[in-house]
Amino acid sequence: MLDFLGDLRRTHMCGALRPFDAGKKAVLMGWVNRRRDLGSIIFIDLRDRTGVTQVVCNAERNAAVHEKAGTLRSEYVIAVIGTVKQRDPNTVNKNIPTGEVELVVDELRILNEAKQPPFLPGDTVLPNEEMRLKYRYIDLRRDAMQFNIETRHKVAKAIRDYLSAQGFFEIETPFMTRSTPEGARDYLVPSRVQPGSFYALPQSPQMFKQILMISGFDKYFQIVRCFRDEDFRADRQAEFTQLDLEMTYPQPERVWEVVEGFLTAAFAAAGFAIRPPFLRMSYDEAIRSYGIDKPDMRLPAMVDVRGALTQDEVEELSSKFRIRKDLPIQLIRIPKVEEISGTERRTIGTYGAYQHVQGPSFVQLMTDPKRFAKDYPALSEKVLKFAKVEADDLWLLAGALNRPEASSVMEQSLQAFCQKCGFLRLDLAQKYAEKHGAFKKTGDPARDFRFLWVTDFPMFEWDNAEKRWNPAHHPFTSLHEEDMAKLEANIDSVHDPKSPLGEIRALAYDVVLNGTELGSGSIRIHRQDIQKKIFQALGMTDEEARARFGFFLEALEYGTPPHGGIALGLDRIVMILAGAESLREVIPFPKTARAVDLMVDAPTPVSEGQLKELGITVRKS
Ligand code: ASP
Repeated sequence: MLDFLGDLRRTHMCGALRPFDAGKKAVLMGWVNRRRDLGSIIFIDLRDRTGVTQVVCNAERNAAVHEKAGTLRSEYVIAVIGTVKQRDPNTVNKNIPTGEVELVVDELRILNEAKQPPFLPGDTVLPNEEMRLKYRYIDLRRDAMQFNIETRHKVAKAIRDYLSAQGFFEIETPFMTRSTPEGARDYLVPSRVQPGSFYALPQSPQMFKQILMISGFDKYFQIVRCFRDEDFRADRQAEFTQLDLEMTYPQPERVWEVVEGFLTAAFAAAGFAIRPPFLRMSYDEAIRSYGIDKPDMRLPAMVDVRGALTQDEVEELSSKFRIRKDLPIQLIRIPKVEEISGTERRTIGTYGAYQHVQGPSFVQLMTDPKRFAKDYPALSEKVLKFAKVEADDLWLLAGALNRPEASSVMEQSLQAFCQKCGFLRLDLAQKYAEKHGAFKKTGDPARDFRFLWVTDFPMFEWDNAEKRWNPAHHPFTSLHEEDMAKLEANIDSVHDPKSPLGEIRALAYDVVLNGTELGSGSIRIHRQDIQKKIFQALGMTDEEARARFGFFLEALEYGTPPHGGIALGLDRIVMILAGAESLREVIPFPKTARAVDLMVDAPTPVSEGQLKELGITVRKS
C-alpha cells in the first residue's frame, strides 16, 4: 500500500544532518539506497542528491514502522519523520558527512515502489555503457554522475555571471535555420508547408551572432546547442554545447582577455585556481616545435638540433642517414621515463617501427638512441646538451628521409614532417609518460592545467581529396592586413596545391589546454568587398555565394562594425573539470558514437502518414 505525500514538507536534505541537530525533529525524503535487516532493527540508507543519512526503524519504538520498513526494497521512494540522534562513538561512519548521526523514525511513508533495477546507483562495479545509457535515469542517480552534472551547472553559471558582469547579453538564436558555414554535414528538418524544403539545424550560431553585432548588441554570448552530423569520431557528440560569444571592435587580445576571465571563473567554480594570461604561440611555431596545432605544454618541445651542429656535422648526418638537411632534425624528448628495456629501445629505434606515423617512410629515426650516442659520442653530447636532455629522459632523433621520388609536394613539406614527428612524440608520451601521471588526456590527477593560445592559423588548408583549398576555419574569418596583397595576387589559384594561398595567415586563434582544443575563434571580415574576395579565392561564384549566404552578404552592406569572437566546447571543459573520461559522462542524455539515444530509442522510422505529409519517400537501400 502506498502513501500520499499530503502536505508533508521535508526539513532537511539527506546530506545535511550533523551532531548539532541531535534532538531535532526532521523530515527526510529520498530513495532507499540500502536496507539492512538486523531483526528488531532495520537500518535504511536514505539517499538524495546531497548525500545519505542512516535511518533507524526500531520494533520496540514503533512496531508498525518497523513492519513497514521490512517491505522496503532498493530504490523505493520514502518519506521519514523522526528524531535526530547522535550515534554512539563506536558506530560512527567516518566515510560520510552525516556519519555521526542517524534519524530514529516515528513515521514512514512509502511514496513509491521500484522494480528491481538492472543495476543499483550504489553498485561499485558499473554495468556496461549500453546498459547505463538505456537506463540513464538510474545511472544519473549515481554519486559520480550527480557530481558531474552539478559541476556542469556551476561552470555554466560562473560563465554566465562573469560575462553578464562584463556587459554581455545572452541572446538566443534559432535552431530551425539554414545551412551554416562550419563545414560538417547538416542535420535537416523537413518543412511540411513547403514540401521538399528543409531547415538545417545550426552547426553553430556563427552567422546569427555576427548579425547580432550588425544589429547593435555590442557583446553577445550564448550557451547553445550545436548539431553536426559527422561520421563516427570517438568522443564527439552529434549535438553538443558551445559557449559562443561575439563582440564589436576587438583586437584578438581583447577576445582572449574575456575568455581568460570566464575560464578563470569557471575553473574557480569547480575548485581550481588558474592564472591568466595564458601562453601564446603562433601556429607556425606550434607545428615546428610540437608538430601539432594543439601542443600539450606539459611535455617539452621538439628541438631542431641543427642549431647545435656545424655545417659538416649536418652533412655527415644527412649522408649517413639519408635525411634532408633543409628540414629540421628533431630531437624528441619525453622526460622522466627512466630506464626502459633494450627491447623497447630497439622497437622505438627500429626503422619502420612506427609505420603508421611514418607513412611511406618519411621520417627517418636515427637508430636506437643508445647506439647513436655510442656511434657519435661528440655529436650526441652536443645535441643532448643543446636540447637539455636529462639522465632519465627518453629521447630520439628524427630526420626527414631524403626521397627524391616523393610524389606529393605537401607530403614533403616542413609541416608534414613536423606533424609526423609530433605524432611520434605523443605516441611515446602516451606509452611512457602516462605512468608517471605527467601526461594524461583527461582525469589528470595532478591537475596541471597548461593553457595556450595558438594564433595566426593559416587562412586556407589544402584538401587533398577534393584537390582544392578550403577555409581552415570558416569563410568569414579575417586575414592579416599584411597578407591582403598575397590574396589578391593568388585569387584564382584554388586548385593549385603550390599556391601561396597556403601562406596567408588568418586572424584566427584556438585556446588549448593540455593538448586538447577547447575552442576556436577569429576576427571576422566586416567588409563586403573583402568577403567577396575570399569567396572568389575559394572558387565560389557570386551566384553560389549569394545562394548560400546571400542574406548575410547583404547584411554586411548595411554598416557592419568590426567584430570577432570565439566558441568553446562546454562539454569538454566540464569533462576536464569533473575529471571525467568521456563527454558522455558530463552530458545528461548523450548519444552513442553512432548518434543513437538508447534511452528514448532515437532515431526511429516514422509513419507513412507523416512521410506523406512531408512529401518524402524513403528509398530502402
Ligand atoms: N563558429 C565557430 C565554431 O563553431 C567559432 C567561432 O568562430 O566563433 O567553430
